[in-house]
Amino acid sequence: MTAVLINLLYIAASILFIFGIKKLGSADTARKGNQLSSLGMLLAVVATLLYSGLSWWMVAAGILVGAAIGAVAAARVRMTGMPELVALFNGFGGIASLLVGCAEFVKIRDAGLAEYLVALQQQSGVVVPGWFALLAIGLTILVGGVTFTGSLVAWGKLSGKLAGAAVGFAGQQFINLLVFGAALAGTGLMVAGNGESGVALYAGIGLMVLALVFGVLMTIPIGGGDMPVVISLLNSFSGVAAAMAGFIILNNVLVVAGCLVGASGMILTVIMCKAMNRTLGNVLFSGFGSTGHSGKAVDGEMKPATVEDAYFVLEAAQSVVFIPGYGMAVAQAQHAVKELAELLEEHGAEVRFAIHPVAGRMPGHMNVLLAEADVPYEQLQEMDQVNPVMPTVDVAIVIGANDVINPAAEEDEGCPIYGMPIIRAYEAKTVYCLKRGKGAGFSGLENPLFYRENTRMLYGDAKATISALVAEFGK
Ligand code: NDP
Repeated sequence: MTAVLINLLYIAASILFIFGIKKLGSADTARKGNQLSSLGMLLAVVATLLYSGLSWWMVAAGILVGAAIGAVAAARVRMTGMPELVALFNGFGGIASLLVGCAEFVKIRDAGLAEYLVALQQQSGVVVPGWFALLAIGLTILVGGVTFTGSLVAWGKLSGKLAGAAVGFAGQQFINLLVFGAALAGTGLMVAGNGESGVALYAGIGLMVLALVFGVLMTIPIGGGDMPVVISLLNSFSGVAAAMAGFIILNNVLVVAGCLVGASGMILTVIMCKAMNRTLGNVLFSGFGSTGHSGKAVDGEMKPATVEDAYFVLEAAQSVVFIPGYGMAVAQAQHAVKELAELLEEHGAEVRFAIHPVAGRMPGHMNVLLAEADVPYEQLQEMDQVNPVMPTVDVAIVIGANDVINPAAEEDEGCPIYGMPIIRAYEAKTVYCLKRGKGAGFSGLENPLFYRENTRMLYGDAKATISALVAEFGK
């Protein structure tokens, strides 16, 4: 009866995950989707802990401690810190799977493979061949370890604790291949030694170390603007690792949840690759951003403007495109931007928001911020929609964006982001760029747009500048 109840809870949890993901597809229903998925996860956790024979008080204590850590992390994180928090949580998923793999390996070492399999059969009613269990354990340790250290490096790069640029060295790809090959060989030796032999023990330990090392090696050569791809790939890996852990302990809901995360992370990875106009292989193995090329030196000067100058141009504009980037998130300028957009509309301008898929520091970053400020979804346009109308736009207002509007991506063949599609702000009749100073974007490149004839710089914190513009309209 208990087993039936637990499986019913697992099915309910899986259904909630699927509906939750579906609702995440639109900004209006995303909050509800999150709540449904969280409820599904609560059901799954409670059912699993009961299934494992733990007492109620241990289940409650675990939930309380986990929920307290999650609540404090969620309450303390600033919106600009979300990307690195997501990277860290991916890493936690990886280490959890790695620990499951290690724990099961230790059980095999203690009891012997035959007894381990009998216990597994008694618990789940499923007969599993020894090689399958060991292979699942090896791959869980491999993918979990890579996800853990890879995510830590991504977290370091996103939070600025590590340099964002790609790190390269001679023979890097050969060494990466060697480490990965050795980790696979370790898995093979574990399986061949039935997990019991002395060689299998050393292979297991070696596999874990190599997986952790490979996570670092795989992520450090990725820099420049390619981090979005890596983050979604690591997210997918954390799901794959969880699904594999589910295969080891024969836990259906872990397999379902892991596959959902793995598949959705992979879809996002493909979308991000398309946004960067690159293949996954190219992102992972080309050492993007490691050339030391910081963009062609640009002749000329950046031309500062005042808020009053910008106000007069904006007041007369018939069409205005806002192009938000990471700086809008830093400044938390979204509410002020919405206010300015409404004032421009009241003055007869057509207002659009041009959203680049990799603007900000996490997929959908700009959409989340603008949705928070209640910017109507119809005003948000993707790059392909907005670029064709850019030459007819009177004013483009770039709010803390840099890489995603950098014309070097179209013009400078030697530049590391060459080929990445951009929002063609430079085609607008007048461009106002809001930034604090001469800081580079995430990829560290010079941006020729700032030196163009039709570009004016509005220096200062984006929120302060936009608020000053709003105040001008009120005078
Ligand atoms: P960038 O990081 O290229 O540029 C941000 C600009 O904002 C800087 O030049 C900075 O200039 C300015 N800025 C910072 N703070 C403020 C502020 N308070 N007020 C005004 N301006 C400010 O941002 P983009 O959005 O254009 O590009 C995103 C980059 O991040 C891409 O390279 C992308 O590949 C990468 N990335 C994206 C991820 C994603 O999933 N979206 C994940 C990881 C990386 P200054 O210092 O002078 O103010």
